[in-house]
Amino acid sequence: MVRAVDGVNIDVQPGEFLGLVGESGCGKSTLLFAIGRLLSEPAEIVSGDVLFKGTNLVYLKEKQLRHLRWRGFSVVMQSAMNALNPVLTVGAQMADAIEAHERMPKAAMKRRSAELLQMVGIDPIHLSSYPHQLSGGMRQRAMIAMALVFTPDLIMMDEPTSALDVVAQRSLMREIKTLQEELHFATIFVTHDMALVRQYADRLAIMYAGQIVEHASTNEIFDDPKHPYTRGLLHAYPSLFGPKEELTGIPGRPPDLRTPPTGCRFHPRCPYVMEICPKEDVPLYSPRGDDLVRCFLFSNEVMTNERASAPL
Ligand code: SF4
Repeated sequence: MVRAVDGVNIDVQPGEFLGLVGESGCGKSTLLFAIGRLLSEPAEIVSGDVLFKGTNLVYLKEKQLRHLRWRGFSVVMQSAMNALNPVLTVGAQMADAIEAHERMPKAAMKRRSAELLQMVGIDPIHLSSYPHQLSGGMRQRAMIAMALVFTPDLIMMDEPTSALDVVAQRSLMREIKTLQEELHFATIFVTHDMALVRQYADRLAIMYAGQIVEHASTNEIFDDPKHPYTRGLLHAYPSLFGPKEELTGIPGRPPDLRTPPTGCRFHPRCPYVMEICPKEDVPLYSPRGDDLVRCFLFSNEVMTNERASAPL
């Protein structure tokens, strides 16, 4: 058995933008799918709760979930080309989504679809376009328009900009943030790109090998990253600001989750590894306010005992 997500505890408030960041294979998309109860067999939630406005989604039947999806929360998938039906026009797909959840006269449905496309910066003329007739950025915008059909409280996005060039990425991010501010939905945004979410996320949860290793405000994480993995991520891409720095990256590879490392899962790659790290599971420590970090360097007890001289 692989525990792709293990002991994760996150929350997102109304209107908040939470960035979920980590390398490929760390479990961030699985977490998103688990929250939306969209895992396909043999994947399953074996324990834990997913509370959405007081309702535990884990115990809902498929029919009850269908009622909540799109209205309460919706998901924007990574690749719009895969998520959109290539043989149906954008308008027909939006109509399908609306019809599946609400009876609406055809004219009203068309009006709503046109309004949504306009909202995401697409000319409503494209209601009659097929997905292949749109650019990658437009396809992702169309997916976001569909996710907004019933103006849900939460939109979860799984790397929606990963197939786009940098200019289209930034433009889509600005669009998402503007929509979020106008419509006040909460966002969980999955990405491997810290730089992408820097300007937009209120808080960041950094994930490694199926666990959250650091959780704090975006400013706090960029100004004073605590976990060695977060530090590694931040040194893996160039900054536009401040003095030039050599990029160091993170040595080694993420672990195989079928046989995760003992103790701290980051220990084989960590430059600060101590004797205790491979031996004991690491709890979350709170070095400041609500910030959380899963690292023994933030345990007074461990640091006293180890008398480690970690160069922090
Ligand atoms: Fe590194 Fe130890 Fe902290 Fe893990 S617990 S990140 S190995 S110092």
